[in-house]
Amino acid sequence: MVPPGSRQVLSSGSENPAAAFGENILGAAAEGERIRLPDLSTVFENRAARLRALAPGHDLEGFLRLIAALVTAQHQALSALPPGSMPGASEIGKARLVQRAPLDPAVWSRDESWRVALSRILETVDLEVLPDSARVAREALMQADKDSLESLADRFLSGDVAAGDAAQSVFVAAALQVAWTRMAALLDAGDLAGETEGGDCPACGSPPVAGLISPGGTKFGHRHLHCSLCATSWRYTRVRCVHCGSTDGISFRNLAGTAYLRAECCEACQGYSKVFYLEKARALEPLADDLASLGLDVLVGEEGFARVPNPFVLGMMEPPEK
Ligand code: FE
Ligand code: FE
Repeated sequence: MVPPGSRQVLSSGSENPAAAFGENILGAAAEGERIRLPDLSTVFENRAARLRALAPGHDLEGFLRLIAALVTAQHQALSALPPGSMPGASEIGKARLVQRAPLDPAVWSRDESWRVALSRILETVDLEVLPDSARVAREALMQADKDSLESLADRFLSGDVAAGDAAQSVFVAAALQVAWTRMAALLDAGDLAGETEGGDCPACGSPPVAGLISPGGTKFGHRHLHCSLCATSWRYTRVRCVHCGSTDGISFRNLAGTAYLRAECCEACQGYSKVFYLEKARALEPLADDLASLGLDVLVGEEGFARVPNPFVLGMMEPPEK
């Protein structure tokens, strides 16, 4: 469903925004709000609006419109969810003791909420923008029994999506995001651990979709990572690999002519993640802007760096080797 990114050239030269943000200070922890839980009234609406704004004239216009429609359906699905079962105080306390995220899919057993979200999404998504592959996937999911849906969810959550399941996985991802985002919004930020060794979400343990640098605190700005599953964001060291936690051997790549976005590349683990600069483009939304900049992933990937793919391209983009 996703064509390769546009053929742009990589640059590490003169239009580098690093100087203005003080990236020579390796590993300096930024100040600012430690953890921001998702706001259910706006999280999906803002994301859909940003996707619609990014779509016109984009190389991936059809794909961005498809995801915008899906995110709109996610917003509608939120209001129809059953109460759900939160991890209790004792489970949260236990997670804290063993330094695990309380909503880690490997720890917290999901209830039926996500399947309720899925059927709502399948019913309400705007069919006009769905390509044939997505229509076929939608039909198949509407017919699927509980066990095969649960197995699709397991495979998505373990990052193991085959190319043949990619179209169905897009809907499954959307439904799981709704369930996890709703749960994350009900947590107390004070119960969650601070910065982790790698850059995984303190609420659910999932990898971030991207980082946003905002001005404030020090003149270098803060970096917040944004969860790919539960939409929580958390402060993370300004220059530090989100995969292995290394602060050595970090370098940056950006597309020529694109100053608001760079890839932070790690020599230690050959991982990379995207960093968006809010001062350069204020309307950013991490998941939407990540999808709209897959061209950078293609180019950094050609250099041999890898990341955990955006949930909506899992099965289309190769995950890093474990
Ligand atoms: Fe999360
Ligand atoms: Fe690394």
